[in-house]
This record gives sequence, C-alpha cells and structure tokens, in this order.
Amino acid sequence: MADTVTGHDEARLRAALEHAHHPTLALVLVHLTGDTSFLSERYQPAYQAIGGDPDGGLSEEAKAELRDAVFKAMLGYWKTGKIVPKPDTATLKRMMDYCATQPIPDEYVNFAMHELALEGRENLKPGKSIALDRAQAATFKAVIIGAGMSGIAAAIALKEAGIAFEILEKNADVGGTWYDNTYPGCRVDNPNHLYSYSFEADHAWPQHFSTQDQLLAYFQGVAKKHDLYKSIRFNTEVLGADWDEAAATWTIRTRTKDGKEDALVSNAVISAVGQLNQPKLPDIEGLGTFKGPAFHSARWDHSVDLTGKTVGVIGTGCSAIQFVPEIAPKVSHLTVFQRTAGWLAPTPDYHDYITDGKHLLLADVPFYQVWYRFFLFIAMADGPLAYLVKDPAYNRLDYAPNADAAALREGIEQYIREQTAGRPDLTAALTPDFHISGKRSIRDNGVWAAALKRDNVTLETSPIAQVTETGIRMQDGRDLKFDALIYGTGFKASDFLVPMDIKGKDGKSLHDIWGGDARAYLGLTLPGFPNFFIMYGPNTNIVVNGSIIFFSECEANYIVSCVKMLQERKAKSFEVKRDVFDTFNAEVDAANAEMPWGYAEANTWYRNSHGRVAQNWPFRLIDYWNRTREAAPAEYTFR
Ligand code: NAP
Repeated sequence: MADTVTGHDEARLRAALEHAHHPTLALVLVHLTGDTSFLSERYQPAYQAIGGDPDGGLSEEAKAELRDAVFKAMLGYWKTGKIVPKPDTATLKRMMDYCATQPIPDEYVNFAMHELALEGRENLKPGKSIALDRAQAATFKAVIIGAGMSGIAAAIALKEAGIAFEILEKNADVGGTWYDNTYPGCRVDNPNHLYSYSFEADHAWPQHFSTQDQLLAYFQGVAKKHDLYKSIRFNTEVLGADWDEAAATWTIRTRTKDGKEDALVSNAVISAVGQLNQPKLPDIEGLGTFKGPAFHSARWDHSVDLTGKTVGVIGTGCSAIQFVPEIAPKVSHLTVFQRTAGWLAPTPDYHDYITDGKHLLLADVPFYQVWYRFFLFIAMADGPLAYLVKDPAYNRLDYAPNADAAALREGIEQYIREQTAGRPDLTAALTPDFHISGKRSIRDNGVWAAALKRDNVTLETSPIAQVTETGIRMQDGRDLKFDALIYGTGFKASDFLVPMDIKGKDGKSLHDIWGGDARAYLGLTLPGFPNFFIMYGPNTNIVVNGSIIFFSECEANYIVSCVKMLQERKAKSFEVKRDVFDTFNAEVDAANAEMPWGYAEANTWYRNSHGRVAQNWPFRLIDYWNRTREAAPAEYTFR
C-alpha cells in the first residue's frame, strides 16, 4: 500500500528489506541518520574464506534492528528528502574499515575514496581529472583496435578528454569476448556489481553473475549511451600498423569482411584486443579428420542440434565447466576429456537471480548501491593476495604458501569431496594436485559435479592419442565414437596482438622483438613503438584481486595522461625509456616467480611457451592504480 503522506510504497520497502545485504544497511544508516552506532561490534560482519553467510554471520536480532532502522530512516527521508551531511573523513574511514572487517591501511584511503565516488560516478570516468587543452586534443587522433570492454573504456576516456578517435572492430557489434562467446551457460565469473564500469555501475543486473546476453546488452547500452557507435568501423579487421617516424604517425591497414582493404592514419594506436580473443584448438594429431561437426566453445555452432547426440568435449576450463552442465541433459551421451582438474571456487549464489526486493534497495535506497559495490570491491581488492604470499617459515610449502592458504585448500578439498560423495573416482579426478591459483580457479555452485555424476556423462582422464574420422582414439587404444566434438580448449593468451603485423621504429616488427614473449611497461607501452598502447596487455591479468574492468579504466586513464605529457612538451611522440621498461619487467618477473602461477606445476594459460608468466600482474591492485593515475614524464623520451 502506498503511504498517503509520502506516496511511497511502505509495504514494498518492508518486504524488500528482507532481501537486504544487511551490512550494507548499516552503512546506509550512517548516511541517512548520521548514527555511527550501527558500525559497532553488534553489527560487524565477519567473513569466511569459502562460501559462508553473505551477511557475515550477523545475528537475526541485529539484522531485524538494521531493517527496522532503515525502514524508519527511509520514511523520514521520503517525507523530508533530507539526508544528513556527508560523513566526515574519519567516519568514512570507519565505514570502510567496517566493510573490510579490519582497519584499512592509510595508503588505501584515497584509493577507496576514489572508488566510492560519493560526489557522483561521473567523476570516475577515466581521464576525468586530467585537464587537456581541448583544441589541441581535437587535432590528435587515436585509433582504437577493438570495441570490447577495454576499447569502450578507452573511447569514453578519449571522448571525455576531447581527443579525436576512431574504433576498428572485426565483429559486427561491440562487446568483444561477450560478443564472441555465445556457448550455452556462458556467464561472467566476477560479481556484476563489480564487473561493470565504475562510472556506469548503476545497472539493474538480473543476476549476481549475469549471462552473456546480459553482458553484451550492457556493453551495447554503454556504447550507445556514450554515442560511440558512430565512431566505430564494424566488420573491419586490422591487418597491421606501421610507424612513420618522420611524420610521427601510425598507418593502420585494415580489411573489411567483404575483402576491401584500406589504410588510415593516426597519431596514436591503442590496441584493445584483449588476451582471450584467439581461440586455441587442441594440438592433437588428426584434428581435422573428424567427419562430424566440431567447433570451439568461442565459436559455438548453434546450427548443430546436440539433442540425442553422442558428444565429446575436450577441456575442463572455465568455458567447459559452464557449457557442460547445460548440454548434458539434452545429449544422449557426453564424454568430457579432462587433462588437468582446476580448483573450484565455491560460489553458492553463482546462478541466483537478484530478487525484486534487492533491485528495489539497489535502485531506491540512497547509498545502498554505492556501499554494496564497495563491499564487493574491498573484499576483492588486495585482501585475497594474502592467500598467495609465501610464508618462508611455513612447513608445508609444497602444499600451500602459508597456513591460511592451506586451510583454504583443505576447505576446497572438502567441498570437492562433498560434491562428489558416492563417487570416489570423481573425487580423485576433480581434486587438483597443485597449488591453488596455479591456474585459474573456476566458480562453482555444484552444477559441475552434478553434471559429471549423470548417468549419460563420462569423465575421461586418460590421455588422448588422436582425433579420428569417427571420434577420439585414446592412448590405451580405445576408439570412442562421437557425433560431435566440442573444443573447450581456451585461447592463445600468450600470442598478444596476433595476427596483427605491427612495425615500430626502423620498421622493426613487434612480434620479431617479442619472439613469443610479450612484455610492456605497465602492460601498456614499449620502447621502439612510439605513441602505441596496449590495453589488457602483457602482465595486466589479475588472478585473485579485483576486476579486469578496473584495470582497463586505469589503462584508459594512463593513456589520456600520456597525451597530456605530449601536449605539455609540445611533442609529437613519446616512447618509454628502455631502462624503465627493463626494470619494470625484472620486478614483474621476480614477483611472478613467487606466485603460485609462477611455481605451481600445472598447465596454464598464465605462462607462455618460454615458461615465463607474461599474463599476470603479481602486485596489488592499488599499485596499478597508483602507477596509472598519471604518466611520469621522467620515464619517457619525447620528440
Ligand atoms: P582454459 O582455461 O585455457 O581451458 C582449456 C582446457 O582445455 C583445459 O582444461 C586444458 O587442459 C584443455 N586442453 C587444451 N588443450 C588440450 C589438449 N591438447 N588435450 C586435452 N586437453 C586440452 O580455457 P577456457 O575454459 O576457455 O578459459 C580461458 C579463460 O577465459 C579463463 O581462465 C577465464 O579467464 C576466461 N573465461 C572466463 C569466463 C567467465 O568469466 N565466466 C568463462 C570462460 C572463460 P589443461 O588444463 O591441462 O591445459
């Protein structure tokens, strides 16, 4: 019933509050009432490393008190429209500590304040705080390669700064990975209230971890809202780019889907093609000989009806673990070929829908959305790194880097035992024998083991010898027959910027220089390639701490600050100094060597064919943020 005084639906609010994330309510109350007693011990959540109560174990009484208090505060707010003055810095710090469940170090305060953006999310647009001469900026043109998550972030930053740009996109629409991957069950594995642009965070996600169609619609919506479509050449693949030192320009060579080649000239190039955009087929003998339909998960062939078919799936990474449970009920028999088991990350709400009540709170209760996102942000910021840092005094370093990490591993092993109860064969097969985070962990809410336990599903862990005309021959001599084969075999993550032919100063080829071992300063710039940026470049993938969108925003911000450096020096081009680049890479290599993905003996796309970790950022999230707030002119040469 709508209240006659306020016109608001009090009963709906009451009902919605039952769906609240209660710790978020405590923070809302500080804003609505100024009462900091809700930050006291009684309302303080405490979280476990695995699963556990999203409300952090608050008592039923405490939760009811929070709901009642917010209800009353909202009635007051509806009547007066008034919120008490913004909490002072000390109070905000207490609120952040409350979210982090421990005092956050002082160095995190600015970082956290930035993310909170209490003055409005508009301020979070990358490059927003960097003042450029707009008239000059308009004469500086950048070409962005790729209209996926990073390319869109870059375009918005450049637009905000007044820098001219054009985007070249091989696909027919924006979205990148969310355009390419349409396999059944495809969904994000980072909570959406975090896996969204910081400046476009107020989105009504249907699920905590939404499906591909929702992600694609989000990126399309953001691109439309920021009027980017008119600046994108779709169906246009970049063949290569050549630096012209005399003119200080790049010439970018393109080819459209219908074969028409073209070239365009720009002052800067921003590659935003990602790390996971080139599907990798398995290197198995006879791959092309199979007579039935066969396709890669990232190129799902929707014309193939799998109903009633005998299907073989190679791979058990994040992609396969999402589509196997979807197709298992419809096929007659499914054989899943696993080479290496991945660690599962128990996530009970992985497939849950966000209730109407939660939507109401997110949309209508002041600051609820802000603090809910902040909870996710701070939980996933740098805290999880603690599970990866080696304690030299720990006596089971072959099992885990420290005691907490060992407890986490034991907890997940227990989870796997529970999931596979009654099937000791599956318990053994699904329990990895390497350190957690040696390769990408896989979110799971129980559907993986449930699929593998089905009568019509077999998990094969013995090695494959070859693909044949009719199916797969095992090394033990068995011939398995299939109607269709699906390769969930991942991406050529180490082949950064392949197959583009990029030539920098003196016509030197990027791929010749890299030799399959890609490196860049902050993942972004490299010597010999002036005015050239790579987004989601070498060593910018994060494993446990943060969202990759956060990194892209940092990168977009840095790019704008580089253009500012050029403007201030009236320079035409800039190039990172060799020693800065070398020192950075040495630091990264040393740090990665100490991380599970550096030393664990597991197949992983985190390492390249040289055995070097060219993918991952081994440091803290705050370190990347600090280092990309503004480019340091001393690290660059200018011309
Ligand atoms: P992946 O993690 O690289 O997994 C590839 C799978 O194929 C592995 O199980 C691998 O075994 C197996 N494989 C490869 N070559 C093989 C061969 N010759 N014989 C037998 N098995 C072979 O690929 P992905 O699952 O596509 O995931 C890639 C990344 O994309 C993820 O780590 C994640 O970052 C991202 N992703 C994210 C989401 C999400 O957000 N929800 C979903 C999908 C993917 P080995 O382990 O032994 O190499």
